[in-house]
Amino acid sequence: MGDMRKDYVSERFMIVSKNNGKVVESKKNPFAPGNESMTKPSVLSLVEKDGMLQRLQDSEDDYVEGWSIRVFESKNPIVSTEAENSYSEKPFYSEPAYGYHYIIVASQNTKDTFATISPDQWSNVLVVVQDRLRWLYTQKGVTYVSIYGDEGILSGTTNPHPHLNLLTLSTIPPIIDAEAEASHQILNEKGICHMCQTINDELSGPRQILQTDGFIAFCPWAPSHPYEFWISPKKHTTSFSKITQKEINDLSLILRATLGGLTNTVKNVSYNLVFHLSPEKKNTRQIHWHIEIYPITKSYSGLERGYGIFLNDVSPEEAAEKLGAACRKELANLVGII
Ligand SMILES: [Zn+2]
Ligand SMILES: [Zn+2]
Repeated sequence: MGDMRKDYVSERFMIVSKNNGKVVESKKNPFAPGNESMTKPSVLSLVEKDGMLQRLQDSEDDYVEGWSIRVFESKNPIVSTEAENSYSEKPFYSEPAYGYHYIIVASQNTKDTFATISPDQWSNVLVVVQDRLRWLYTQKGVTYVSIYGDEGILSGTTNPHPHLNLLTLSTIPPIIDAEAEASHQILNEKGICHMCQTINDELSGPRQILQTDGFIAFCPWAPSHPYEFWISPKKHTTSFSKITQKEINDLSLILRATLGGLTNTVKNVSYNLVFHLSPEKKNTRQIHWHIEIYPITKSYSGLERGYGIFLNDVSPEEAAEKLGAACRKELANLVGII
């Protein structure tokens, strides 16, 4: 199992996990229907029957078939509750990479991507994410639940079959910590949520790409990646796990429309899709939650890797113009077919 190590002096941490990182190369895809026995038993298999969704789960040697979404613990987890490694102190700080690593398979079809599954399917996926998220936060040793999806050959995914990872951490990840800290400071100084302010500023500006009733998608002012965009609720909301079914449907529509628009704008694009949610433990600093999408169109240079300075060859205004047109078209098609 994994080791969570911290830098000699700073709080920057990383995980050593020998199991993970293996790309699926066998002819049999463990995430595909018919190969259920290759994964751990499902804790949830959603099966559609007579227009209703049944919530089933695998038992010992009886695997639920005909599912549309399947949730199970990763067989090659990055973090584990069975971690046995010992602790050590700085400068060689290490602690067991303790946690849960769940996979949510988002479609039966290996050829699907996040940009091809239907908004309805996305809604079901997001409801399942909410459920699992709530459950994970009741578990011991869970300080933060990270939720991310990787799409395409350059995304770092270990299996091209569309799926999300839910991975818990015993500490708040540095990027969330920094966002929450900055948010808290601005709230104290100015009495406003900086994301609410940003949304207000971007609503009718040149970086806005799509809006639905409750959500906005826009390219951020200072993006680290070409065509990077964020999706955020327009109204102040800090808890994703409490959003309603109506909001989930709305989010699904904008997610699907923007990912479809991105795919049509940048050929064969790989991307990471990351949920930036508030830590849901008591007394932790909250953020106005949002989803960030990082398209990967080139490799990092020394400037990015060595200094953390991102060079972007597409301005967010130009990206928003192209994405906006493609996403609006995609939305029109989707609304037409719903
Ligand atoms: Zn806000
Ligand atoms: Zn963020």
